[in-house]
Amino acid sequence: MANKRDYYEVLGVPKNASEDEIKKAYRKLAMKYHPDRNQGDAAKAAEEKFKEAKEAYEMLSDSGKRAAYDQYGHAGVDPNLRGGMGGAEGFGGFAEAFGDIFGDMFGGQRGGARGGRQVYRGSDLSYAMEITLEEAANGKDAQIRIPSWDNCETCHGSGAKPGTSPKTCGTCNGSGVVQMRQGFFSVQQTCPHCRGTGKIITEPCVTCHGQGKVKRQKTLEVKIPAGIDDGMRIRSTGNGEPGTNGGPPGDLYIEIRTKKHEIFARDGDDLHCEVPVSFITAALGGEIEVPTLAGKAAIDIPEGTQAGKQFRLRGKGIKGLRASYPGDLYCHIVVETPVKLTEYQRKLLRDLEESLKKGGAKHSPSTESWTERLKRSFFS
Ligand SMILES: [Zn+2]
Ligand SMILES: [Zn+2]
Repeated sequence: MANKRDYYEVLGVPKNASEDEIKKAYRKLAMKYHPDRNQGDAAKAAEEKFKEAKEAYEMLSDSGKRAAYDQYGHAGVDPNLRGGMGGAEGFGGFAEAFGDIFGDMFGGQRGGARGGRQVYRGSDLSYAMEITLEEAANGKDAQIRIPSWDNCETCHGSGAKPGTSPKTCGTCNGSGVVQMRQGFFSVQQTCPHCRGTGKIITEPCVTCHGQGKVKRQKTLEVKIPAGIDDGMRIRSTGNGEPGTNGGPPGDLYIEIRTKKHEIFARDGDDLHCEVPVSFITAALGGEIEVPTLAGKAAIDIPEGTQAGKQFRLRGKGIKGLRASYPGDLYCHIVVETPVKLTEYQRKLLRDLEESLKKGGAKHSPSTESWTERLKRSFFS
């Protein structure tokens, strides 16, 4: 890093140069030091010059970095933090750098091909699995059928009809990449003829249609952890589609869908349920039975319990994946109006109503406060 040249000096522009001037200066230098024009002994020196120019350009074309550089010099901007040309040596480095800067000029092809067949990671697969709330709460060992790929037995993976063999691609001579010349520049691209495989199959295997592999099914054991929630995904590494040209396989994502439960609704680690209670029990109070995921439980409701009142059963919810304690169960009281009354029952209720009326509004706290609010709103 010692004795670094001034970035403006490197590009040969004045300190007050415009963005456009900086870009133009850099392009000129980049062309001058391009590897196609600097063969043999000159190549190494040209590469150094190119790196220097690229670094200067990256700094001065970024207004924030340029300001820091103007104020603090090289100490203000540390190019090593950016990676960039740092580790890239030889032609690969040049090609990549040119792709970055001149991609817009030539609509250039980016990335990928580096002196060999294109290697691709396989695609990820996703699998939707529907489970019950109980299974989500307690966990489950599941088996699923997923696609898998085997080498084709007919052609032993070559993709060519038995007795024939794949030919070396004439377009790229088997390398899988071609050099495209565009003006001064040469850019590596995936061979369009063989799509990067380097080989051409003239007579494809009839079993696998030239793929070299056949799709099968396999059974996969999946452990669904207790506490998992709707919408969460489990990753099964390497169980996606196979890679191309020796690339790694993709992953399989198992996406959890929880079925709607007849009684409970889940909210995070908490559960909610509605508990119907007769208006008599609500009025007199008493023990009622409530469901939990682990079976029945009993709660005491006090005298005069109103509809909509909720009771919490601590720890009767679900223990989430990363939770230390289970959530709670909330029982929402639904006061049930009796139906299909006999004449005798109707009479009892009318008598009850008469008796309550004599007692005044004190028996109906909600009605009382509601009437008060009505009066305040409309009759004051
Ligand atoms: Zn085959
Ligand atoms: Zn080819």
